[in-house]
Amino acid sequence: MTVLIAGGGIAGLALGLTCHQIGVPFKVFEAVREIKPLGVGINLQPTAVRELFDLGLEDRLPTIGVKTRDYSMHSKKGLQVWSEPRGMWAGYNWPQYSVHRGALHMMMYHALIERAGQDCVGTGWSVERFENTANGAALHLKHRDGTTKIEQGAVAVGADGIHSTIRQQMQPDQGEPRWAGHVLWRGTTQAKPFKSGASMVMIGNTDLRFVSYPISEADPETGLATINWISELKLNPDGGFNKEDWSREADLDDFLPQLSTLEADWIDIPALISGAETVYEYPMVDRDPIDSWTDGNVTLMGDAAHAAYPVGSNGAGSAIIDARQLGAAFLAHGVNANALQAYEAKMLPPTSKVVLMNRGSGPDSILGTVEDRCGGVFEDIEDVIPKAELVAHAEKYKAAAGFGIEATNAAPRTIPKGARVG
Ligand SMILES: Cc1cc2nc3c(=O)[nH]c(=O)nc-3n(C[C@H](O)[C@H](O)[C@H](O)COP(=O)(O)OP(=O)(O)OC[C@H]3O[C@@H](n4cnc5c(N)ncnc54)[C@H](O)[C@@H]3O)c2cc1C
Repeated sequence: MTVLIAGGGIAGLALGLTCHQIGVPFKVFEAVREIKPLGVGINLQPTAVRELFDLGLEDRLPTIGVKTRDYSMHSKKGLQVWSEPRGMWAGYNWPQYSVHRGALHMMMYHALIERAGQDCVGTGWSVERFENTANGAALHLKHRDGTTKIEQGAVAVGADGIHSTIRQQMQPDQGEPRWAGHVLWRGTTQAKPFKSGASMVMIGNTDLRFVSYPISEADPETGLATINWISELKLNPDGGFNKEDWSREADLDDFLPQLSTLEADWIDIPALISGAETVYEYPMVDRDPIDSWTDGNVTLMGDAAHAAYPVGSNGAGSAIIDARQLGAAFLAHGVNANALQAYEAKMLPPTSKVVLMNRGSGPDSILGTVEDRCGGVFEDIEDVIPKAELVAHAEKYKAAAGFGIEATNAAPRTIPKGARVG
């Protein structure tokens, strides 16, 4: 009953850890030759942190990030529009974590090979296509050294990211990821944390935006922490853009002048941007939701299933939740096509909704409203947007994305303690 997993990113490793926990044999095939700590900061909502705790990774999380204490949005003048506590400070039973994606990835990889052995992740193997067979599924693989092989299993899962080969085979006419004109520049800088010391902040409007949060505790001697930042500009969508590549290095001149126009006296945006050793550029792309992401004994998860704009702090978290829901479906139905259908029925509707919400009415869209109503200048935010409207907007997104506080705390474990398949 082996589960074949295409891709050893956050989604694929979370599924490997889950399969190991519930006693299901699995094999991960990852295209890169060596797993390395790539990317910059990401956020894990309490719903995803809870799953990592249930995977026995609770003690490792403090070594790779910080518990996010609060989140606030500010107009382009630095004036506070909205602020809310996060994680346990908001009443969740689990914290929200701000972490380095690469550190999270390496932590999950090390945990997986410690538990299931080095051979459970085959690196350098690209999945070229899948096949539904009489007894399950097969993956056709090609190694970087040119070797090819066909691996047989009970089911196969495409966890191969936004450029998923498995999804392309299921949806041959889907085309390239969709770009609507926004570009992100990302980096980390050693600097003093702002506000509470574990604050996530968003400053600007829908055309020009700066997001920042620490992803390490401050060094007790220097007071410096690793501060993650993201600069975002809206460009002409009809103009060209560099194809998405998480590791593309960028030029500060392309965005620093515009970002320097943001006026917030409690954070030094130009210094944060200029202080980064490396800056990465990424066009904000997503993919249209699809009606089905399962073909017989083959399914999709993570970005392969539902790549969304990274605006709601839940991309990596939803990949982890997919893995846990797929594990729960294996427990309920066995490792077979019925489990894949049950998993899809549970996860496709809410994740499709998030893809669409992130395009226009994500949590940050309130800054566009403030810009439209007062140009970002106000004495009292209540004169611009009533508090009730702000509260309703924040709650609506959390509920749609599946991380409402009460619902999260009341939900039973996704994978019951000690549960095993068969
Ligand atoms: C190098 C890298 C850096 C990133 N940095 C950031 C970041 O800074 N901020 C952010 O918000 N998000 C980042 N992401 C995306 C983020 O990890 C995902 O949006 C989210 O975690 C969902 O994870 P995923 O496992 O579905 O996709 P990913 O994390 O993208 O993982 C997909 C994996 O599949 C592998 N793969 C692709 N094609 C094949 C194939 N044909 N056969 C076998 N393996 C294949 C890839 O090498 C990759 O390891 C990054 C992704 C990558 C790959």
